Amino acid sequence: MPVGTNATVKALDPADIRASGASIILANTYHLYLRPGHERIERLGGLHRFMAWDGPILTDSGGFQVVSLGDLRVVDEDGVTFRSHLDGSVHRFTPEHAIAVQEALGSDIAVALDQPVMPSSPREVVADATARTHRWAERSLAAHTRADQALFGIVQGGIDPDLRAASTRAIAALPFDGICLGGLAGDETPEQRDATLDIAVPLLADDPRPRYLMGLGSPADLVEAVHRGIDLFDSVLPARVARNGQLWIPGGRLNLRNRRFLDDPEPVQADCPCLACRQFSRAYLAHLFRARELLAYRLATCHNLTFTLDFMARIRTALEAGTFPASLPELRLRAGRIRGSEAGAKSA
Ligand SMILES: [Zn+2]
Repeated sequence: MPVGTNATVKALDPADIRASGASIILANTYHLYLRPGHERIERLGGLHRFMAWDGPILTDSGGFQVVSLGDLRVVDEDGVTFRSHLDGSVHRFTPEHAIAVQEALGSDIAVALDQPVMPSSPREVVADATARTHRWAERSLAAHTRADQALFGIVQGGIDPDLRAASTRAIAALPFDGICLGGLAGDETPEQRDATLDIAVPLLADDPRPRYLMGLGSPADLVEAVHRGIDLFDSVLPARVARNGQLWIPGGRLNLRNRRFLDDPEPVQADCPCLACRQFSRAYLAHLFRARELLAYRLATCHNLTFTLDFMARIRTALEAGTFPASLPELRLRAGRIRGSEAGAKSA
């Protein structure tokens, strides 16, 4: 899922998003609640009409943004009080309120409010937040009323094997439509993340519901997580690095701010069907970035999303053909070696 934080995938319109190969996008509940407001969006016909995207939309619960962006944040058993990062005003989210906001937005998939903590947090902090996340999960299910909206629950438990296993069992025991794995794609190492997935995913082996790893990552991160049994991802990374002039190509990346591209007549990637590669040269894009022209952001974002979604399509094709294990070396080569911590994967 490309990330449309403010009801827009930055620099793209819905036709660009569709052309990049996206079938579902993520929008951020926290951001839309603060601006322009979920009630306003509801009055204007809901989020799909508001942003003119007729494909599926998943809204996150806002838990991650509340904890990572909110200035003041006080978590109690009933909910979390936080200060807006926009104007300092004080707000409160409860599990029930987070559901009500998402029902007003009218997303296709809502997510239960959780209490995320950094993977490196002390065990007692993780244990406390995980237990609260479970209680909030039950309250979210009880509050959810829209039959036309799916509801996903979030597993926490940090990187502690026992807490992660217990949380996976607790959330999987509830009648959610999908299982999110939260509290990763933070400050853990790729090895710690892999080990944590190896704890959680086998516990879901017989569970037909989609497994969604929140907040990951680069193509190299994605292929390893698929290898460990994850189905669904959201990532701001392809679009974010694109806006910095970093374009992903098979096996590596081009930094268009590098002088050597100013005379390069080749497209970014010769066989790429994106808007940028069909019509323009590396030299032109490098010029646009240097001149800070707005078109640079659109073209670069189109390319990186197209590359990433094509990469996921290749993974799906291999899975469906039963050739994924045999294709792993080739997929890893195509992804390049940039894993999330190096690339600054954390979403906001
Ligand atoms: Zn391209």
